[in-house]
Amino acid sequence: MTPALLHRLIVAVSDDLIAHADELTALDQAVGDGDHGVNMKRGCEAVLAKLEAIGAQPLDEALKAVGKTLVMTVGGASGPLFGSFFMAAGDALSRDGKLPENLAGIFGSGVGAVSARGRSQPGEKTMLDVLCPVLEILKAEAGHPDLIERVRTTASEAVARTIPMQATKGRASFLGARSVGHVDPGARSSCILVHAVCDSLEAEQ
Ligand code: ADP
Ligand code: MG
Repeated sequence: MTPALLHRLIVAVSDDLIAHADELTALDQAVGDGDHGVNMKRGCEAVLAKLEAIGAQPLDEALKAVGKTLVMTVGGASGPLFGSFFMAAGDALSRDGKLPENLAGIFGSGVGAVSARGRSQPGEKTMLDVLCPVLEILKAEAGHPDLIERVRTTASEAVARTIPMQATKGRASFLGARSVGHVDPGARSSCILVHAVCDSLEAEQ
């Protein structure tokens, strides 16, 4: 991971999430309080404001800095959850990280942190319903030449699978059965994030 690629990744992920803020807000208006787009935009703008400092660090420290920034600046459930993801992934990379060999282990540490902090599991109509299937494909298909494409497809399909789910965690759970029939906002933002990373890495190849 060169500093230039890290820069491009941070900018690509942030720009894509900011560009989809209205869509994320609309999704959260259906099952939550309508702030998910604004929350993600605020977090991304805070990360972009620190781009020079964060992008100059080694990847493990950069991940931790992104996580801390999200925890500090994003209101709502998603800030601490995405923040925990990045902080735990950074910790795992510092501890025993070798990329790309241990990509699944590092991503898995992030997923584990979301699950622990959110007291949530896949199937509850949350961001985990995208993050967990992506983790499974990273484990199952590590080193596969089409891994990037498979991750991208997995994330998109996983978002669609949140539509028939009933939320049992987060604000959407207050709706009970009325949460059925809508995409989960955090699942969609996770997909946008994963796609942006895939697109950036593919452009490098
Ligand atoms: P809030 O719900 O506080 O308004 P956001 O709207 O920014 O925060 O984020 C909502 C998203 O956070 C949901 O769509 C869901 O994906 C995710 N989320 C909420 N609670 C949990 C949880 N306990 N575990 C995992 N993800 C969660
Ligand atoms: Mg909300």
